[in-house]
Amino acid sequence: MSAASSYDYLFKILMIGDAGVGKSSLLLRFTDETFDEHIQSTIGVDFKVKHTTISDKRVKLTVWDTAGQERFRTLTSSYYRGAQAVLLTYDVGRRDTFENLEVWLKEVDSYSPNKEAIVKLLVGNKIDLPDATVDDEEAEEWAKSNGMMFLKASAKDDEGVKECFEEVVRKILETP
Ligand code: GDP
Repeated sequence: MSAASSYDYLFKILMIGDAGVGKSSLLLRFTDETFDEHIQSTIGVDFKVKHTTISDKRVKLTVWDTAGQERFRTLTSSYYRGAQAVLLTYDVGRRDTFENLEVWLKEVDSYSPNKEAIVKLLVGNKIDLPDATVDDEEAEEWAKSNGMMFLKASAKDDEGVKECFEEVVRKILETP
């Protein structure tokens, strides 16, 4: 077995949130170290694989993207099946995308067979933009009241992206 294909853990992580918040961009920044200003959000990606080592554990991650299906609110139970973690993402410059997370969270909870155990992370993306319309305290508060952590990121500037994925993996590893 090659080094790249051997691992201690295999985890499925989901990108969730409104169209345009940067789900595909965060995913591609993390897995391929790329960023595309003109990414075609309707095409999207299904999932990408990333091998990484966290807390001395070799972890294989499959990170799933909605491939634009979130526009029609037609994510299905198969999308959620077997997932250990979700990154609930909003655009810090678009308040509506933060407010819609309430709906997304309900969907996560209704589809996840193990909703107590699924690790959730609130991600405020596009912090490189000058006009944030959701303040950090409010986001922090919402995350806390829904039992999740909160981190900020910029897929464009490569800020905080790796940290988001590392944080959820650490949490998954801690979950009994
Ligand atoms: P998705 O529909 O949630 O998958 O969002 P995309 O990844 O397709 O991104 C939507 C748009 O936002 C694209 O034009 C991206 O280039 C842009 N975008 C994504 N992340 C960032 C970011 O961190 N900063 C800025 N300024 N733009 C971003």
